[in-house]
Amino acid sequence: MILTDKIGRTVNYLRLSVTDRCNLRCMYCVTKDFKFIPHPEILRYEEMLRLVDLAASMNISKLRLTGGEPFARRGFMGFISSVMSSHPELDLRITTNGTLIEPLVPELKKIGVSRLNISLDTLDRKTFAEVTGRDHLNDVLAAISACLSAGIRIKINAVAMKGINDKELGSFIDFAREHPIDIRFIEFMPMGDDTKSDSRFWSADDILEQGRQLTNLIPVKRTAENRGPARMYTIENGKGRLGLISPVSSHFCSTCNRLRITSDGKLRTCLFSDRTYRLRNILRNPKLGDDTLRRVIAAATRDKPLGYHLLEQRSGSEGVCVTQMSAIGG
Ligand code: SAM
Repeated sequence: MILTDKIGRTVNYLRLSVTDRCNLRCMYCVTKDFKFIPHPEILRYEEMLRLVDLAASMNISKLRLTGGEPFARRGFMGFISSVMSSHPELDLRITTNGTLIEPLVPELKKIGVSRLNISLDTLDRKTFAEVTGRDHLNDVLAAISACLSAGIRIKINAVAMKGINDKELGSFIDFAREHPIDIRFIEFMPMGDDTKSDSRFWSADDILEQGRQLTNLIPVKRTAENRGPARMYTIENGKGRLGLISPVSSHFCSTCNRLRITSDGKLRTCLFSDRTYRLRNILRNPKLGDDTLRRVIAAATRDKPLGYHLLEQRSGSEGVCVTQMSAIGG
């Protein structure tokens, strides 16, 4: 079965959040009065594996594990292993804040993890503590260095924030020049009870213009490997590259191929839409089987919205959807 929607988009990418818990409190990610999802409502790993099996049977070829902080959930390494051994055909990716992984790098390597996306908004220790509420920059830098030594490829994602990390564009470019790492700035999206993204918004075009004043940035041609939403640029004499992801100023809804499942088993067909489809009750109902799950996922996919319509309808400084990013997984 191939998942397609009403306007002809094919869905082949699933982002699965394994927890809403996180050891950081990033200013753009958690809402003021956020509450953790109660434990009994969080899917067990067996339930997640069943969803991965189903997804694989529905033409999903790329799976990203996210959170919350996925490495903060007990048993996550075992879960990665199980997914990898039952689905070697899946292109498995993981998104992490990198704070907990340095001691896990040898094991990650051993189980076959060959790349990681690490979210890192600043290279300055004080700013890191201000943005995330915790003083963990050195742990992230140590993890990056351990991954590179072990041959695990790293992409860094930084939320672009005026007045917070715009002064560091040069430092990030230098970092990518010195290390074989792609550093991608992603535009600040108005999520949850947002009041900050408008005043802090730093567009991908502005970043490019400022970057070009610092170095020679050459666009990388779109290829089968470089076909994601990031516009990539090589950096003069650089081992790594700079990338720009512009979900707000130049959306990529028409080619969106993603579904998301939250840690409490809610299927979301668009990052900006609060419409969810509850899979947990079906998973836990012994009278309902995989056929029901498949039917619900296929029907939900058919109605996948175009998120930029929702972004355009947003008024004032409110978030485009009420759910905070830590519960969705990015
Ligand atoms: N804890 C993991 C991490 O830090 O990568 C995974 C979860 S985190 C919610 C996933 C991604 O969402 C991170 O790269 C984070 O920076 C991004 N993100 C969260 N809120 C955002 C926002 N309002 N705008 C843009 N990106 C955001």
